[in-house]
Amino acid sequence: MPTAVTTSEKELRARLDLANRLGALAAGARDLAELFRALHEETARVMDATVFLFALYDETSATVQVVRQMDRGVEFPGGTFPLGKGFTSEVIRTGEPRLVRRWSAEGPAVHLIYGTEAGELVTPQSGVVVPILSGDRVLGVLSAQSYRPEAYEDADLLSLGAIAVQAGTVIERVRATEQMALEHERHALQLEAVLATMSDALLIVDPRGAIVRLNRAARELLCLDNASLVVGQPLEQQRLEQWPATAREIAAALLPLIAALRSGTSIAEEEVELRSGQRRVLSLAASVLRSARGTPQGGVIVLRDITGQRDLERLREDIFNMAWHDVKTPLAVVRGHAELLHRRLSSGERDRTDLEADAASIVTHVDRLAELLTTLFDVSCLEAGLLSILRWRTDLAALAREVTESIRSTARHEIKVLADQDVVGEWDERRLRQALMNLLSNAVKYSPEGSTVTVSVAAGARSATVRVRDEGIGLDGTELTQLFRRGYRAEPARNVAGGGLGLYFSNGIVAAHGGRMWAESLGHGQGSTFCFTLPLREERSAYRPAVAHA
Ligand code: ADP
Repeated sequence: MPTAVTTSEKELRARLDLANRLGALAAGARDLAELFRALHEETARVMDATVFLFALYDETSATVQVVRQMDRGVEFPGGTFPLGKGFTSEVIRTGEPRLVRRWSAEGPAVHLIYGTEAGELVTPQSGVVVPILSGDRVLGVLSAQSYRPEAYEDADLLSLGAIAVQAGTVIERVRATEQMALEHERHALQLEAVLATMSDALLIVDPRGAIVRLNRAARELLCLDNASLVVGQPLEQQRLEQWPATAREIAAALLPLIAALRSGTSIAEEEVELRSGQRRVLSLAASVLRSARGTPQGGVIVLRDITGQRDLERLREDIFNMAWHDVKTPLAVVRGHAELLHRRLSSGERDRTDLEADAASIVTHVDRLAELLTTLFDVSCLEAGLLSILRWRTDLAALAREVTESIRSTARHEIKVLADQDVVGEWDERRLRQALMNLLSNAVKYSPEGSTVTVSVAAGARSATVRVRDEGIGLDGTELTQLFRRGYRAEPARNVAGGGLGLYFSNGIVAAHGGRMWAESLGHGQGSTFCFTLPLREERSAYRPAVAHA
């Protein structure tokens, strides 16, 4: 019959159209709500979808999670119900589609999980329910229902089944995408945390050579705010002329590394010394990042401040050179005197005076050697942060008297001590003796014989102050600011033996006690005063709870 042919042709065309559209459907939906709408639209094209339900099944909790439902053109939010006895649950359990021609006669009343207006008849009279499968697993169901009985036939089961196949593909894709998004987010958070806590500065560069990411340490190193560094713009297009000098210096060092990354070459390590502002040595390394196919995708540049490391290495070299230089002379003298002594003894010389003079000379120079080696050792401890302070009850006034006494025997100076009262604190007596000895021997060393050196010790409310005053060569303004640098020796002092380590070390001792050292002088030839203060109590014990007096 012509009408029958037309109907089946129409159906065929409709089904072909459906097949085509389903392909597009699978590619389009980004989330489950969007997928629900697309599924409803497609279903409504080929069958009665007055009521439409899209639900997922959660195996672990055995619950049905309705994504969304549609009833007479109104979309309702989903909900959750445990697997029960209805057709939806049955399809989930069996994985088989179900056609319900007359609901009231065939099964339990359908439960629509949204509320209805009172008195309104909402029970559908027929429906189709198909599983959404992934292999043997039931991911969920699609169900189209009608308020008319007999609204569906077997062909509708097939159509809804085809839609369910596409739904399955999209659900898996959406889930995989969600999973990937979660994974990405987790990785991004982890990376973010690593970058933020890294003490090394790190820059991420894209294939064009633009800085696309930099961590906190990199921002601090470059001293740049958001306005100065445009993220995503190549370095040469940044407004470098407005950058601070140090940042410009670093940018100049970065340019060849970025060029290397662009051409797909990694750079193991390079060193640059920053000269503008505070001197700093940076180590730079660049590693190329590649795509799965091996194409260079920019890379990562790491900048590490190695100033401390280099300084320590230089210190070791300095100390070695200094030690070699300073040890050579006394060693030669000791050897000379020892040889002489040996010869004199071998030749049977009897004059005790010469023999004693040689022996005394050997003792003096060996002492000097020992002192020198101790200083070198102490200074290297100080540099390495290993200077230990052993606090003990110490009287600074008594210490000053003792040190002065020991120096008085050899010095040809008048040495006065103004320290009548006890000045007691918890300090490292041995270290303070070293510091005082240094100040006192300098005062003697850098002032003429017969002049006066005065040591005074006084206590204030919170700190004790020691002053060592001499009438010697004095210091000018520039010298006063440099005195405590390691190895510093002022020009007028060069004709007196010394290594420029004593003040550096003494200052370190005082600082380790929480105190301060400084020098005062009115200029060359005007004498100098070296002073230091020490807290009378350690800072942490300075606090005393108030005591109520009855
Ligand atoms: P050294 O005396 O072995 O050179 P120091 O570290 O003790 O080393 O002193 C560093 C420099 O400080 C000296 O070389 C000298 O130039 C200056 N200086 C130290 N004490 C005095 C002083 N009392 N008067 C003048 N200059 C001093």
